Amino acid sequence: MTTSRRPLIAGNWKMNGLAASMAQLGGMIAGVDSVVPRIDLMIFPPATLVAAFASRARGSRIGIGGQDCHVQADGPFTGDLSAEMLADAGAQAVIVGHSERRVGHCETCAVVQAKVLAAWRAGLMAIVCIGETQAERAAGSTLDIIGRQIAQSLPYKAPARDLTIAYEPIWAIGSGLTPTLEEIAQVHQSIRASVVARFGGEGENMRLLYGGSVKAANAAAILHLENVDGALIGGASLAARDFLAIAATYR
Ligand code: PEP
Repeated sequence: MTTSRRPLIAGNWKMNGLAASMAQLGGMIAGVDSVVPRIDLMIFPPATLVAAFASRARGSRIGIGGQDCHVQADGPFTGDLSAEMLADAGAQAVIVGHSERRVGHCETCAVVQAKVLAAWRAGLMAIVCIGETQAERAAGSTLDIIGRQIAQSLPYKAPARDLTIAYEPIWAIGSGLTPTLEEIAQVHQSIRASVVARFGGEGENMRLLYGGSVKAANAAAILHLENVDGALIGGASLAARDFLAIAATYR
């Protein structure tokens, strides 16, 4: 079946980046011609840099997003940021449900689902992260966990252009470990089946990213798997050269 899926290479900078990091974004913008036009590129800097990055990237092929948002549009939530604030700063998307939020900030699937709706309310595309722990994989329950996270973290209806799913095994994040190619393909096939069952053609067109220790050395093999429509990259997205090398594996 033909789909309208455009691969997405997305860089999650987490709590990394100061004003001087603008040089890396500049390097990405300068080097983006090495990346084939059929793929999308996004960087998710820390909140302090979203406005400056969005301003620098305006008119380029690199989109800018936030790493999290609050469910509410405004109010007495000290230290939080709303999706509207991110959009106002120039963001086009937001990551929700990253395992570092689910685990470190006790975010449930219900909260993640509410954040997806908040993102849409502000006109942002949402990247929803899901993934199993090492113990869950060892117990053979990966597909059950993924199925439950999809069922509970995604809204009832989802237009493909507004929702991207990132499969990120928690044990693969920042560890240098990755599942085998067969394991990644199996999980992505299962996610595809779930979203098609739930959203029909929108599920067919929804992008499914893989995340967890993606680097230039392993990117080509992972990104060419069926139902892998790009990557969410942490550490290897901080330097322009590494990020562009991963994106350049698409031909
Ligand atoms: C991430 O945190 O989203 C991630 C995939 O990190 P890394 O690439 O560093 O494993």
